[in-house]
Amino acid sequence: MKQNIKNLLYPELEEYFVQKYRQKFRAKQVFKWLSLGVTSFAEMTDISKKMAEELSEDFYISDLKVLRKETSKDGTVKFLYELSDKNTVESVLMQYKHGMSICISTQVGCNMGCTFCASTVGGKVRDLEAGEILDQVIFTAKNEGVRISNIVLMGIGEPLDNYENVLRFLKNVNDEHGINIGYRHISLSTCGLVDGIDRLADENIPLTLSISLHAPNDSIRNKTMPVSRKYPYEELLGAVKRYLKKTGRRVSFEYTLIKDVNDQPSHAKELCQHLKGMLCHINLIPVNPARGTMAPSEMKRIRQFQEMLISGGLNATVRRTLGTDINAACGQLRRAEYQNKKEGEPI
Ligand code: SAH
Repeated sequence: MKQNIKNLLYPELEEYFVQKYRQKFRAKQVFKWLSLGVTSFAEMTDISKKMAEELSEDFYISDLKVLRKETSKDGTVKFLYELSDKNTVESVLMQYKHGMSICISTQVGCNMGCTFCASTVGGKVRDLEAGEILDQVIFTAKNEGVRISNIVLMGIGEPLDNYENVLRFLKNVNDEHGINIGYRHISLSTCGLVDGIDRLADENIPLTLSISLHAPNDSIRNKTMPVSRKYPYEELLGAVKRYLKKTGRRVSFEYTLIKDVNDQPSHAKELCQHLKGMLCHINLIPVNPARGTMAPSEMKRIRQFQEMLISGGLNATVRRTLGTDINAACGQLRRAEYQNKKEGEPI
């Protein structure tokens, strides 16, 4: 069985060329071409025709097809990409003052079951391969003719539930021979898989870890985020503290405000007690009513919540919402497409 060449780490590609051709430098050429988005070995003009043919006997090069593309009034562009097996994932390209940022998916669907999130409806279909995660960066940059400077792993899927492939992706996107995006320009968001957080702390990868907290205690978190029954609040915060101690890197908490569920002054107070003294930043986000059942808190309530956190000594900002007119929240586009399809077709 041929494998996707983009799943190989750079040192593994070097090893391949050393073993087969005694030509280590070929890895550099091929890795560069792949990062530019070529879809055949024949396009690699600095390798011989014979070598291109031999490579295509050992490997294939994955591609992404744009199934749908939606552009928001604020410039945010959302892509629904089709993978080689017809499954689909989403990526979102956002324009910030400091450059272009891309939000990418790590799984087809998700098993985490958060009640407000559209990605988890229907569960996880499969993990994405490292090369497929990378392809979202490669082909978005190529098709849009832009330079991407920041990456957030906040699309469909739970990155720490696809640990090995995500780690490979991180190493390859950071590799100086390819796209070369610094770890400090990458954020990884997790719903709170404690074992994964502990593993990540040991990797020596200085990315920004973002924790989807969304509640001030277990009883509220259990209702909206089933993961909290496996990894309760205390355990999660314990892992975050270990991560902070080991890496010295400030952690982000995402807190999605849902009207009358987690937005009361008493909730802000409780949150302050839990996070006080921790090197962290809190992002407050009005919930996007993606699944129709939950209403976002009013802006006045969100500001009041923020004020309370700040008076409690925490660093809290209200996230600018981008792309709300194009279903840009997690999994919404894939979900909408799915509803247009017949039962049994891949999503
Ligand atoms: N599984 C990872 C990353 C993907 S979700 C995680 O849970 O962090 C990315 C972020 O979007 C998470 O913080 C998630 O809780 C949030 N999110 C999902 N659906 C949302 C919605 N309808 N409104 C606001 N935020 C949402």
